[in-house]
Amino acid sequence: MSRTLDHLFDRNVAWADAKTREDPDFFRRMAEQQAPHYLWVGCSDSRVTANDVLGLDPGEVFVHRNIANIVHTSDLNLLSVLEYAVEHLEVQHIIVCGHYGCGGVSRAITERRGAMLDHWLQPLTMFYRKHRAVFDAIEDPVRRLNRLCEINVEMQVRRLAATPIIENAWGRGQSLNLHGWIYAVDDGILRDLGPHLTSVAERDALSSIDQCVLDPVEPQSAKRRQAIAAFSALALEEEPQPGHDPAGCVCCNGQGGPKP
Ligand SMILES: [Zn+2]
Repeated sequence: MSRTLDHLFDRNVAWADAKTREDPDFFRRMAEQQAPHYLWVGCSDSRVTANDVLGLDPGEVFVHRNIANIVHTSDLNLLSVLEYAVEHLEVQHIIVCGHYGCGGVSRAITERRGAMLDHWLQPLTMFYRKHRAVFDAIEDPVRRLNRLCEINVEMQVRRLAATPIIENAWGRGQSLNLHGWIYAVDDGILRDLGPHLTSVAERDALSSIDQCVLDPVEPQSAKRRQAIAAFSALALEEEPQPGHDPAGCVCCNGQGGPKP
């Protein structure tokens, strides 16, 4: 095997050339400053890269990744990234994004112990053990793991919302949205799990995380939203409401369907 990684340097040159051809000012803009609107807190899994799954260019999303997208409130790495993103970049949205089939989450529910990784996953492991009966009642092991992947996202959004960095930002009136999303590596689609938090009051109004285990939410993808909207439009076309005249209607722009 080669001691150097020349093929990666070659790919880099090809990428930079292609980027410049398609957008001659791209690197000049990159050099001026970064002003991303989003902070992504995701898993280190090599298949879940923020820019790719969001379809964003470099410079558009600030990123922190670790195994199983865990928020440890004593993690200096995460807290430094968070502070910089909130107080200097002034991002408007923080996305905690897990993914189905996560190896880190899977490790948290095995009996194997002793590695540094198990210290890292300890909060999730303890949560799983506390609610083991609920998870074990899910017979399909894939569904069981994925359910814990979803709950892990919920848990980490709450932990993020409990940090003084976020509380202080909300306290001084900064507009800051926290989101909980999950990604499926087998279809490339992001799904919104919640919670969506914009204030301490919203955080404090959440039901307990223990209750969430018993009340799974239906993850919403843009595809699902679009399908529901398309179906609604279709239903409206087939069954016009009494007195509805699409030609002069302000709610459907004359199309007979919902306003785009
Ligand atoms: Zn993962």
